[in-house]
Amino acid sequence: MADRVAPLDLIDVDALHSEEELQVRDVVRRLVADKVRPYVADWYERGEVPVRELAKDLGKTGLLGMHLTGYGCAGASAVAYGLACLELEAADSGLRSLVSVQGSLAMYAIWRYGSEEQKQQWLPAMAAGDAIGCFGLTEPDHGSDPASMTTRARRDGDDWILTGVKMWITNAPVADVAVVWARTDDGINGFVVPMDTPGVTANTIKHKLSLRASMTGELVLDGVRLPADALLPAARGLKAPLSCLTEARYGIVWGALGAARDCLHTAIDYATSRVQFGRPIAGFQLTQAKLADAALELQKGYLLALHLGRRAELGLLRPEQVSVGKLNNVREALAIARQCRTILGANGISAEYPVMRHAANLETVLTYEGTSEIHQLVVGQQLTGLAAFAS
Ligand SMILES: Cc1cc2nc3c(=O)[nH]c(=O)nc-3n(C[C@H](O)[C@H](O)[C@H](O)COP(=O)(O)OP(=O)(O)OC[C@H]3O[C@@H](n4cnc5c(N)ncnc54)[C@H](O)[C@@H]3O)c2cc1C
Repeated sequence: MADRVAPLDLIDVDALHSEEELQVRDVVRRLVADKVRPYVADWYERGEVPVRELAKDLGKTGLLGMHLTGYGCAGASAVAYGLACLELEAADSGLRSLVSVQGSLAMYAIWRYGSEEQKQQWLPAMAAGDAIGCFGLTEPDHGSDPASMTTRARRDGDDWILTGVKMWITNAPVADVAVVWARTDDGINGFVVPMDTPGVTANTIKHKLSLRASMTGELVLDGVRLPADALLPAARGLKAPLSCLTEARYGIVWGALGAARDCLHTAIDYATSRVQFGRPIAGFQLTQAKLADAALELQKGYLLALHLGRRAELGLLRPEQVSVGKLNNVREALAIARQCRTILGANGISAEYPVMRHAANLETVLTYEGTSEIHQLVVGQQLTGLAAFAS
């Protein structure tokens, strides 16, 4: 029998990494093997995750806000951050979402647009996993079109009064602080809102059939009075939250490959041991075609992620390039997950194997941080010079 190689070893992608990058990857892989993999299927079925405990472990390992500098953040490279996202999402997209929302949305917003006091108050605690953040942009009636948001912040003396509802907010039910985007007389602004402020309520969204190992909430802001210094001083207009989304989307470009890799590993293991018609199903040409095509897309997605990561390290990565990565890698990861599920037959729908869980998760990943359609339109705009989604 010919030797087997793991899917990502087909073209020796490790040769494209520094020792340091591979070390980060291995540390995250071990953490996930130890603290997440044995439990995640159960969390998923119950729809409950020990977020606080996990945040502490992630913080200790330096994974929260890891690509940011100062304030207790690890200052890792873009590629190291990407590799961490891949390993986290190989366990579950919910775990990577926890890290993305904490580091790339909530912490990044404060790090990039906050006052020195806001940074000192929140970033070290968030990097350590002692404080959990969330990011409220989406509303019940405004998802792809956040420019139409109706959450409002009005002045009352020096204070701000915040009123509105944010929907589908990751980490909201367990968060200590929310970065909330609201309309003011000056356009869209960001606010740092401690979750224990009177008038703030987070209701857990139940009945999710995807991303169940992640806490998602509705954030109700009912006349929330905030001091003047709750405003993120440097955030002006929708550009600010969109820049945070670019950070998080970059992590997804890598993360989705982790879910796909786990599906492919599982499918290869299963196919080489499952016997039908007197031989392993991996020996059938149709099965090998599925595995080969999935491995090809995984490698191509990896090379794309790495290229974008290297551009980010040079400070040259553009938002529309991140759209290319998110659109391609999430779409292909989902296709890989679905194809791998067929290889597992009936077992493919069982939580005893991770494939269906990844496939269900990737439905969320396809939708959040800009739907695949919106990213198609971003790419379309680049190609044609015409914006199809501006109102
Ligand atoms: C589990 C989960 C966690 C999330 N976490 C967060 C979070 O932490 N913070 C946050 O702010 N948001 C979060 N979101 C919200 C997410 O970002 C939105 O769901 C997403 O932006 C899409 O918005 P929508 O659901 O309102 O869909 P809609 O915008 O209503 O879109 C519905 C469909 O219409 C399509 N569509 C819309 N406009 C156009 C157009 N111009 N052209 C073509 N097609 C179009 C969309 O692509 C989609 O297929 C989360 C969502 C989920 C499911």
